[in-house]
Amino acid sequence: MKAVNFKEFGKPKIVPREFLCRSIGNDCSWKHLAKTEELLLDAAALHLRDVHNIQSLSVELIGKIKRSFLNPTSVSEYESDIPELKEFRCRDIGMACSWKYLAQTEELIVDGAAVHARDVHGIKDFSPEMIAKVKNAVHVWPGEKAAA
Ligand SMILES: [Zn+2]
Ligand SMILES: [Zn+2]
Repeated sequence: MKAVNFKEFGKPKIVPREFLCRSIGNDCSWKHLAKTEELLLDAAALHLRDVHNIQSLSVELIGKIKRSFLNPTSVSEYESDIPELKEFRCRDIGMACSWKYLAQTEELIVDGAAVHARDVHGIKDFSPEMIAKVKNAVHVWPGEKAAA
């Protein structure tokens, strides 16, 4: 621990933390960056519920997730502005499907949607048109209450 610098007091420095889903053993490219461990754990819990069908996190799993938290790989990119969580809903591209996916970048959402389209809808080739459709349908996540 380094000594407390009192000049910094009252102005807590935000130390973003990053979580990679694959670091807890999932074959998944999802990652998330948040300003605090609590926010990061919330987002991870939502992702695990929506995507990996884990309805409630055991104390063990929470411990495992927290131990896997990293210092962000590219903190300078995020120092001033941590990207908002974005949402994609399969029904927004005309599918009769309640699947949704949350991530911080369109690229991650496209990855997740491609896996979902292949596994659930039998779409093997995720064409540039599909990618464009998905990107068009991506919007800022309105929050858990609005989504319910
Ligand atoms: Zn995942
Ligand atoms: Zn779907």
